[in-house]
Amino acid sequence: MDYTNIKCAILGSTGSVGTQAIDALTELGANITMLAAGKSFEKLLEQTKLCSPEIVATSDEACGEKLRAALAHTDIKIYSGKDAICRAIYDCDAKLIVHSISGMAGLPAALAAAETGARIAMANKEALIAAGHLIYARLEKSGGELIPVDSEHSAIFQCLCAQGAAHPSRQADSSRVRRILLTASGGPFFGWSSEQLDTVTPEMALAHPTWKMGPKITIDCATLMNKGFELIEACRLFGVDSDKVEVLVHRQSIIHSMVEYIDTSVIAQLSYPDMRDCVRFALTYPDRAPAGSPPLDFAKVGTLTFHEPDNEAFPLLNLARETWRRGGTAPASLIAADEEAVDAFLKAKIGFGDIARVVIAAMEKCPVYEADSEDPIYKAENEARIITNEIINKYAK
Ligand code: MG
Repeated sequence: MDYTNIKCAILGSTGSVGTQAIDALTELGANITMLAAGKSFEKLLEQTKLCSPEIVATSDEACGEKLRAALAHTDIKIYSGKDAICRAIYDCDAKLIVHSISGMAGLPAALAAAETGARIAMANKEALIAAGHLIYARLEKSGGELIPVDSEHSAIFQCLCAQGAAHPSRQADSSRVRRILLTASGGPFFGWSSEQLDTVTPEMALAHPTWKMGPKITIDCATLMNKGFELIEACRLFGVDSDKVEVLVHRQSIIHSMVEYIDTSVIAQLSYPDMRDCVRFALTYPDRAPAGSPPLDFAKVGTLTFHEPDNEAFPLLNLARETWRRGGTAPASLIAADEEAVDAFLKAKIGFGDIARVVIAAMEKCPVYEADSEDPIYKAENEARIITNEIINKYAK
């Protein structure tokens, strides 16, 4: 298969996943026609020189001005400002859109991308968690599709390919799938008690053993909130109830997730952890392309271990399960409450153990609305931020 004619766009190109997406796509020789990012001018300029896209979009006006000056001698179109990324999505005519803008800020871009009919390689979990049903409604209309790039969901998607003809991203055939086994590294504080967790500092939490990522998601991995988000993400992506998704701690991060069928057969996806593999799969599916990454050496890995998660020390996992059951705008509130609590922890306003206490207390107070459009989702998000900050102030050191 020749990928050189496939127009690709990368949203959030200067972030950790975005950078790795450029690696994976250039390795395949794909045509990167649009890059979009926020304030990281130097990095965006460097990527622009490397990829020579037709359009570069930045949500930041000042970054746009600097890009215009630096690229004045080229015919690259620069879009800047609040709606720049969405305008660029509509104009760039990409067949593959890698969405790696992080946080709820990525929702408008996700909805726009879903309207274009392109394949979305989705690395933004917040938009899916808060508004996955709205994204799928748009994909239905446009004829587009979504392939998850989050490593666990890429794995589940690949395992679901074993169920037969149905497109795995739309629906896990619930009559055939018994459970989805979502694997978790367990984070840097696996085995720690609640009391020990209260001694964790931002520096300690930012040293993630396996994946190199931004600070917000690294903290979410340490509290297991990330796994809770991924549980909701799996429910959205594969059309299953949260009681069908089980979390399993697997310290080696070699199995990226598994699907158990009703005949007790379990299909797993294994590889060394590398986000580039997930991006490559999203582009090449249902085909496969050779990777530059090293093949799995089973004898060297030696042992794969599995543990049940400690729901007492890490209560955010069960909170996510409950939040999915509450439905409506509750998942959006959870994202916002967690963002505020993690931010407060990184600024040393609250302790590590307080993150879960604050988020649980906030979710008890957040009203839940029907999430039939973006407006109630944004309303719930904003209210959750206010409620959470009131609680943070009570906990503040
Ligand atoms: Mg993940």
